[in-house]
Amino acid sequence: MIGAHVSTAGGLANAIERGEERGCESIQIFHQSPRMWRPTKYGEEDFTAFREAMEASAVEAVVIHAVYLINCASKDAELRKKSLASLTHALRIGDAIGAAGVVLHPGAQKGEPLDPSMKRAAKTIAAALKDSDHCPLLLEQTAGHKGLLGRDFDQTADLIELAGSGKRLGLCLDSCHMFVQGYDITDEAHLSAVLDEAEQKVGLDRLGCIHVNDAAAPLGSCRDRHANVGKGEMGKKGLSAFLSEPRFEGLPATLETPGPDKKGSDEKEVTLAKKLRREGLKRRQG
Ligand SMILES: [Zn+2]
Ligand SMILES: [Zn+2]
Repeated sequence: MIGAHVSTAGGLANAIERGEERGCESIQIFHQSPRMWRPTKYGEEDFTAFREAMEASAVEAVVIHAVYLINCASKDAELRKKSLASLTHALRIGDAIGAAGVVLHPGAQKGEPLDPSMKRAAKTIAAALKDSDHCPLLLEQTAGHKGLLGRDFDQTADLIELAGSGKRLGLCLDSCHMFVQGYDITDEAHLSAVLDEAEQKVGLDRLGCIHVNDAAAPLGSCRDRHANVGKGEMGKKGLSAFLSEPRFEGLPATLETPGPDKKGSDEKEVTLAKKLRREGLKRRQG
C-alpha cells in the first residue's frame, strides 16, 4: 500500500483528501504539530469524520508518526513525562481512527550510557502501551548513528524485550536508514538476507510498516538524509528491489522524501514508486 506522509492542517480528515490527491493507497500523519508539545485536541466528531472520509476513499491504511520532540530515553524526568504524554496521545488517536500503528524513534542517549537509556526508553514505551488500547507501536530502526536507540536489530530486539514483549510492539523499517546503516538493500538477495536477520532477531510478524526513501548519503555513512525516489544513492533499481520484496506485501509503505519543492512527496513520486514496485515484481518473476 504505497503512499506518503501528508499534512493534517485544517483537520484530521483533510489528510485523506491530500492522500487521494497524491494517489496514496496509505498515508502517514502527525498526531500534533511536530514542533510543539501542545497536543492537538481532537474529539469524537473528528475521528468519525476521518473514518468516514477514509471509508469513502482509496486510502486503505493510516499510520501515525510520533513527533520528533519525544525522547523516551531522556534522563530529564520532565522531558520523559512530556514524551509519555505525547506518545500516549498518539496511540489513543491511533485507537480512535483505526491506525495501522504509531511509528516512534525509540530514543536518544544524549551522551548518557546505553543501559540506563534503554531501560528508561522501555519503561516509557511500556507505560504508553498500558495507557492506550490496541493500536500497535512500531519502533523505527534508526540510521545506525551512535547514540540513537534502535540502531540495529539487536538493539530493537532488546528494547522490545525490555518493554515487555507484548504483540502491540512492532517494527518499522526505513529503506534509507537500512542503507546508510550499511546494508546494501538495493540487491534483492542481500535484502532478503537482512530480512532473515530481522526475522531471527525481532520476528517479521512484528513488521507493521515500511518507509520508502532514497538515501542522500552513502552506504554505511550512518547519516539520515532522505532523497527523492530514484534521485539518491539507492536509485530507481535499488528502490525497485526494496519495494517488490515479497515479505513487505500488504504493508503500508510511506514516502517521506523532501519532494520536488521540499514540501513532501507529491503525486508524481507516489506514481513512480508504484511503477518501480511493478517493475521489481516483474523482474523477480523473471
Ligand atoms: Zn522513516
Ligand atoms: Zn530518516
